[in-house]
Amino acid sequence: MPLDRFQREIDYLRISLTDHCNLRCVYCMPLAGAAYAPLEGLLTSGEIERVARAAARVGFRKIRLTGGEPTLRPDLVDIVRRIASVPGIGDVALTTNGILLPKLAPALADAGLRRVNVHIDSLDRERISRMMRWASLDDVWAGIEAACAAGFTPLKLNCVVVGGYNEADVVDMARLTRERSWHVRFIELMPLGGGECARVATQSFVSNRDTRRRIEEALGPLEEMPPTSPSDESRNFRLRGAAGVIGFISPVSEPYCGSCNRMRLTADGRFHLCLLRDDELDVRAALRDGADDRRIAAILLRAVGAKPTGHDLLHGVSTRERSMHHLGG
Ligand code: SAM
Ligand code: SF4
Repeated sequence: MPLDRFQREIDYLRISLTDHCNLRCVYCMPLAGAAYAPLEGLLTSGEIERVARAAARVGFRKIRLTGGEPTLRPDLVDIVRRIASVPGIGDVALTTNGILLPKLAPALADAGLRRVNVHIDSLDRERISRMMRWASLDDVWAGIEAACAAGFTPLKLNCVVVGGYNEADVVDMARLTRERSWHVRFIELMPLGGGECARVATQSFVSNRDTRRRIEEALGPLEEMPPTSPSDESRNFRLRGAAGVIGFISPVSEPYCGSCNRMRLTADGRFHLCLLRDDELDVRAALRDGADDRRIAAILLRAVGAKPTGHDLLHGVSTRERSMHHLGG
């Protein structure tokens, strides 16, 4: 397994398949004026498979497909099939807003996808449409049901908590775990990209300590669960007697950089070394220049070796070049 210079085991690759999206969540994409990579710059399914093979070769074990909205890629099923067939990759997962899952979930399961995270910020019709602009509750919920029907387990729901939008809705979201074996995870806002979304993220931050207090006041005490792995970014809890899990992902108030196990690949073929910084290493040029698998693996190991640690959000340092829809969370 590749070790970085801080002795962290880096074995998890998050691949962004596109920087486009069918929604415009207020903290992620502006309504107009987002920057996109030219289409011919996006890695092809074959190029993505080559990076996945190189990653497996040097000890990566887990791959997540994200975006932008990964279900917008017309070749998504093919990409899943290619990655699921790479020896050594034991886990292929997808992060999505769920809207297109009713159409895609059975084919994705057939192609080898096993786990899905669906992003849903509220169970209130008006507020979800205000936050995840262009989404309707019915559409996202249909995606969640499609994910259940396709047998993706455990099903994880991601909820970004935004002051002035959904901070009171966390109670209804958490209540879902009483009956359902889902993991409902609350994510702290991060400012990325320096534009209007970064401003929303900074001004509307809600700490997970406040979110937890709100849930406990309404639903009773949360019992902490032991971590499933040292690199799990979510601190997990259960309501007494509940079927599901409540998770808190707190990159701002409780950074977990010391146990980070991630490398990111942007849709336009750069290894992005830390979510909250701009350092990148190009792999696309090598892929298009006829590099063999050994050279691709060597570039990935260089990226691992150059990974920084410790973000500096509290001093206003974050990405300037990339926004969340380029990096995929
Ligand atoms: N479109 C897919 C989705 O929404 O799940 C995948 C890409 S999205 C960028 C991945 C995750 O990032 C989502 O769970 C979303 O809630 C989260 N996210 C987006 N912008 C964020 C921000 N500024 N701070 C924290 N999380 C954010
Ligand atoms: Fe699209 Fe996901 Fe960003 Fe929302 S969080 S705008 S669904 S990429």
